[in-house]
Amino acid sequence: MPETIPIPGRVKPTRRAYDRRSLGASAEWRPPPAKRQMAKDRPGTLICARCHAISTIKRWFYDERRYQELKRDTRVGVTTCPGCERLDRQLYEGDVRLRSVLLVGTKRQSLAMIRHEEQKAMRENPIARLAAVHDQGAEITIFTTTRYLAERIGRAFERAFGGTLRVDRLVGEKFSRVYWERR
Ligand SMILES: [Zn+2]
Repeated sequence: MPETIPIPGRVKPTRRAYDRRSLGASAEWRPPPAKRQMAKDRPGTLICARCHAISTIKRWFYDERRYQELKRDTRVGVTTCPGCERLDRQLYEGDVRLRSVLLVGTKRQSLAMIRHEEQKAMRENPIARLAAVHDQGAEITIFTTTRYLAERIGRAFERAFGGTLRVDRLVGEKFSRVYWERR
């Protein structure tokens, strides 16, 4: 931490203030890490009890066997991972509209395809999640926590069924609208 010239009336910045400076305003709502989460022998190892993600050295990933071991280790901190946090805070970066009468007859396959794309995206980036999937017969509406996952779902439907795909990346915003349609 850099030493600064003390300003009269100012106290030493808190850990949260440092975090805020290095991580941006998003650190605001993050609770400060508990003491046991900073144990010396396991620096920063965290697990998410909800989705079983593991974080070591600030990288989140899935490994169910390792999770089962880590959850018994009292030195490992339990937290909510960034992906689950996005779901809680309803931070969505993508929506997908799939529209075709074809969806009615292939509903099971179509819903499985959507889940499968989530599984693949999660392996690369545990933040990528399906936030909501609304099935309305010939139309399926999906909200995702990353733009990448939304675009990926659109491409999967285009690959499987043809039709037309349109991706609108909202200028200046982290958001993608994906439309897939087949007559
Ligand atoms: Zn999680």
